[in-house]
Amino acid sequence: MSETAKLLKVFLVDKQLSGLTARLRAAERFLGEQTSQLSSLEGSKQTIESQLKHLGASVANQEGEMARLDARIEQLRNQMNSAQTNREYKAFLTEINTIKADRSKIETVALEQMAQIDALRAQSASIDAELAERKRMQSVAADDKTKRAEEIRERVEALKQERDALAREVPAQVLAMYMSLFARRDEESMAAVEVQDRKRHEFTCGSCMMSIPVETVNRLMTHGTITRCVSCQCILYMDAAATEAMQPAKR
Ligand SMILES: [Zn+2]
Repeated sequence: MSETAKLLKVFLVDKQLSGLTARLRAAERFLGEQTSQLSSLEGSKQTIESQLKHLGASVANQEGEMARLDARIEQLRNQMNSAQTNREYKAFLTEINTIKADRSKIETVALEQMAQIDALRAQSASIDAELAERKRMQSVAADDKTKRAEEIRERVEALKQERDALAREVPAQVLAMYMSLFARRDEESMAAVEVQDRKRHEFTCGSCMMSIPVETVNRLMTHGTITRCVSCQCILYMDAAATEAMQPAKR
């Protein structure tokens, strides 16, 4: 059996395996997407939680500071009421006003930060809802993947064994070239020669439809050496239809 014929056997099993595992691979991709979205949401949630913690501590500090200033104002008012002179009274009043201005600045910042806290809490709640939905999707996706894998497990095992046995018949170098091709082109890795017109020597590649020289077809027919389409790089072979078409017409 020629190298091309041996490789074709491997390719036909690979095609079956690829078709069989396509749904499993789609399920795995979907699960991967759910998992990565979930971890990105968890990251956002963590960022918000740490911002909330920071802002909460800041507001608590400002409230403490305002309470301290309120007590100081109260104390100054009492002192002001028992002031002996007008000058003394005015001095207390000035100090009270200065403290009130400071307190007002602190209060403005505290109110702004409380508004930020409210906004972040709302954001956090909407992330929680999204997280719950995403977790549900992830669990559906995981079940689906397990189910798909289970469905095809035995068939895939059998095909893999068959493939391994067939692949052992193919020279290592050829197999390596084919495998890197298959990783890129999948079902388009090998293509049958199409005989358009035998007498006029018109042959095309079954994958890219570009023409193939008659010498190439003859070489494939007689030796079956590994031959690649110069246009699309797929490995060419003669299928039953092409071989039949190449037979000289019966009289
Ligand atoms: Zn081609």
